[in-house]
Amino acid sequence: MNIAIRGSGNLGKIVYSFFDELEDYNVICFIDTDISKQGTFLYGKEIVGFDQYAELYNNKTTKIVVAINMDSAALAKEVGLLKPYGKEIGLLCRVEEILHNKIMNEGNLFWIDIDRAFLSQIETNVADNCNLNCKGCSHFCNANDIYSAPSIDRFREDLRLLRENAQILKLYLLGGEPLLNQQLTHYIRAARAIFPDSDLRLVSNGLLVFKQSGEFWDCLNETKTVFEITTYPPTKRMIDSIRELLDSRGVSYVFRGEVNSFISLLDSKGSNDPLISQKKCLASICRFLYKGRVFKCPVSALIDKYMMEYSISVFPRTDGVSLTGNMRIKEELEKLDGPIPMCRYCAEEPRVFPWEIQNNPLKEDWMA
Ligand code: SF4
Ligand code: SF4
Repeated sequence: MNIAIRGSGNLGKIVYSFFDELEDYNVICFIDTDISKQGTFLYGKEIVGFDQYAELYNNKTTKIVVAINMDSAALAKEVGLLKPYGKEIGLLCRVEEILHNKIMNEGNLFWIDIDRAFLSQIETNVADNCNLNCKGCSHFCNANDIYSAPSIDRFREDLRLLRENAQILKLYLLGGEPLLNQQLTHYIRAARAIFPDSDLRLVSNGLLVFKQSGEFWDCLNETKTVFEITTYPPTKRMIDSIRELLDSRGVSYVFRGEVNSFISLLDSKGSNDPLISQKKCLASICRFLYKGRVFKCPVSALIDKYMMEYSISVFPRTDGVSLTGNMRIKEELEKLDGPIPMCRYCAEEPRVFPWEIQNNPLKEDWMA
C-alpha cells in the first residue's frame, strides 16, 4: 500500500518511521504547502506541493496520512481539501502523546472513508450539573443545581446511533462536571466499546480528582482515554498536586489553557450577521450530541433549558440532525459547518467579563 504523508515536520517524521517499519506499506512522498521545502527530500522521499502530488504521485490507491498538529476546525478543512485525492484518509489520535513519546503505533491511526459522514470532533454530556458553577457557563450548568445525567442506556443508544451514521475522530465526554457521575467508568467503557478507534477524551475542571478511586484511573488507562483538565482559577491553585497525581497514575492528560474570563453572547434582538457571529465563535466547531441528535453547538442544543428556566421564548428552537432513519445524514451534518438560525441571536461582539462563580444565576448573565 502506497502512503503519502501530509506534512514533513516533526509529526511527519514520526509517521514516516512508523510506516517505514511495516512491510505492507511504502511511503512514496511527503506533501507540504511550504514552498521552501518543495523539491527537497526527506528520508530519500520527495517533498511536493499538491499540484506536483496530483501530477506525479497521485493514484486512487495511494492513501494520504495527515501528520500535522492542528485543531479540529483546521483538520475538518484539511479533510475537505484532501477529498479529491483518494477514498481513504489517515488521521492521528492522541497527537500530544505521539509528539511527547516521539513514536506512534497502530492505535494512533484513524482511517476515514470520505464517502461517509465525518466529524473531527463531537461532545456529549455525562453530567448536566457542575461543582464549580461558573457565571455564564455555555452549557447552562449553573442554572441547574440538582444532579442529573443522561441514563447509561440513553448514552449508549446515542453513541450507537452516532457510530452507525458518522465517523468521529475526537469524542469528548464532558458536562457539567463528569466526575460528579458516580457511574462514570461505565460511561467511559461504553464509549470506548462503541468507538474503539476514536480519540476519546474526558474533560473536567479537575477539582474532584483526589476523590477518584483506583478503578477510575485504571479505566482511563485501559480505555486509552485522554484526561483534559480546564485550568479555571481554583484548578490553577491546585495544578502542581493535580499534575503529580496524574503522573503517579500514569494517565495520558492535557491541561487546557487558563480560563480567567468568560463571554456572554446571547442577544434577544436576533439582528446579528450569523456568518460573522459563527466565524468568531469558539463553539462553532463543537458539535454536540444530545437525545439522539447532533447539534451545531451546546448553546443551540441546550437553549431550551435556559428558556424554560427563565420562562422566555425569544430564541429559535433548533432541531439538530436526527440520527434515526435519516437518509440525508452526511449532507445535514456538513450543513452544520455553516451558520444556523440561532447564530443570529449570538452577538458579533460578545460581552467579556472576569471569571467568577455564580450559584444564583440571573438570565442577564448570558446576555451580551
Ligand atoms: S466548570 Fe465548565 S461545566 Fe462547570 S460551570 Fe464552569 S464552564 Fe460550566
Ligand atoms: S449558535 Fe452559532 S454563534 Fe451561537 S454559540 Fe452556537 S455556533 Fe456560536
